[in-house]
Amino acid sequence: MASNLHILIVGAGFAGLTAAIECRHRGMRVTLLESYPTSRNYGDILDFSPNGGIHMERWDGGNVARELLEVCLNDTDQFEYFKYDGTKVLEEPFLLKKEHYYRLLAGHRGEMHEIVCNYATRIGVDMRFGEKVVEYIDNDQELAVLTESGKKYVGDVVVASDGPKSLGRTQILGLPETKVNSGYAIYRAHCHITDEHRNHPLIGPLCRKSPNFTGMWVGKDLHMLVYTWKGGKDLAWVFTHKDEDDISESWSFPGNLDDAMAYLDDAKFADICKEIVRLTPQDKIIDYKLVWREAITTWLGKNKRSCTIGDAAHCHLPTSAQGGCQAVEDGVVLAVCLEKAAGDVPLALQVFERIRFNRSHVIHQSSITARDDMHYIDWESDFIKEHPEVLNIPRMAWVLDFDAKADAEEHFDQLAADVKSGKKGTIEQLSLPATGAFDLSERHYFKESDSEALNTAQIPPTAVL
Ligand SMILES: Cc1cc2nc3c(=O)[nH]c(=O)nc-3n(C[C@H](O)[C@H](O)[C@H](O)COP(=O)(O)OP(=O)(O)OC[C@H]3O[C@@H](n4cnc5c(N)ncnc54)[C@H](O)[C@@H]3O)c2cc1C
Repeated sequence: MASNLHILIVGAGFAGLTAAIECRHRGMRVTLLESYPTSRNYGDILDFSPNGGIHMERWDGGNVARELLEVCLNDTDQFEYFKYDGTKVLEEPFLLKKEHYYRLLAGHRGEMHEIVCNYATRIGVDMRFGEKVVEYIDNDQELAVLTESGKKYVGDVVVASDGPKSLGRTQILGLPETKVNSGYAIYRAHCHITDEHRNHPLIGPLCRKSPNFTGMWVGKDLHMLVYTWKGGKDLAWVFTHKDEDDISESWSFPGNLDDAMAYLDDAKFADICKEIVRLTPQDKIIDYKLVWREAITTWLGKNKRSCTIGDAAHCHLPTSAQGGCQAVEDGVVLAVCLEKAAGDVPLALQVFERIRFNRSHVIHQSSITARDDMHYIDWESDFIKEHPEVLNIPRMAWVLDFDAKADAEEHFDQLAADVKSGKKGTIEQLSLPATGAFDLSERHYFKESDSEALNTAQIPPTAVL
């Protein structure tokens, strides 16, 4: 029985937290080890698209989504797109469907994390903060982890959701350390809006009480996102730019305001972008090197009782805008498979991988193509008029309107039969198809008339479950 299992999860990012919550919902005992001493209450912006948010919407009868919306920016009508020089190119509805209201959860990463962590604790996940795993033990005798504090934790399943740096990837999967600099980095910042922002001729209009401002400026090799929300109190921005620095030791540093400004100057970005950066307190700017990892052909340990999930299995670049969502989908599908396999852990993990691999892989790869499509626009031609969809965060129905839980429930038996019969093939052949691609031919630009959900007055008062 799945409820007899003890699930040991390493890393309380959104992958680990979701796996923990979903396993608890199914009666399993869960211990979650996190090296950070508390819930990660810092960060800038993170958007869960509806395919990630739908699972959070289900938690506690919609109460977790309601709590998240208190800090998220759904009082937003349009996402605005600008050429680097400030020319507005187009705008798109922020919400496409009414039911997305409780599923498009965009806000301050740390605030959202804290809410989800608190929920995990409330439902009985044994959260152990300040416990850094230094060794994974996965052999025929033992399945356990050792922590820096000298403790040993034993489980029936070990889940390494330990993020892009993932020790689990090296020790469970036996892979060499292969992190590569993607060639890009991000300056990122979150700060409170001050009177200086409000009184600024360029920035002031973005600091309105309602609706929130969401927008992006795009140029060669650089794009910058800016969000304001919470009734004109919070502002966050991130900009991706070329960066070939060595990342062998670390990839997150305090950012230098002058360096950030120099990138915007070189790329001839509009004054409003430079002013937003200039008004950011120096200690709020982070210089974050973007790490890329190629897809790996298995996420499972050799005894199929341990696995990697989330960024530990498929390290996304932010330009897919799906890394967090895919982490959540992993967590949900893992729990469904453990429940359905009724105690047969190797079966559960093999089916889990076959449900997730192709979908996650295609979306993972899109983080490069979506970035390059945007960064290499020929602004002198009519390309943008013909292909406005090149600018947006890909919003295809096969990605966004996808219910990973229903999909796993539907396909578990068929894939379990494949595993039991020893069906042969590559992971791509054995896995469910991705069902879509990211080619420009599949992408759309949505006009106001495409949205059912522009007006918050139309929003249902309770979550649609
Ligand atoms: C700037 C930026 C913007 C992004 N925007 C979006 C977006 O809008 N939408 C989206 O869906 N995705 C986005 N992403 C991607 C998304 O943030 C990640 O894909 C997602 O957070 C991965 O979650 P995770 O749980 O797998 O890993 P992480 O969030 O990295 O969590 C891993 C956890 O494991 C812990 N840990 C690591 N090693 C150990 C150890 N040895 N022992 C114990 N604990 C350990 C870490 O402290 C951490 O808490 C963005 C990423 C970046 C960098």
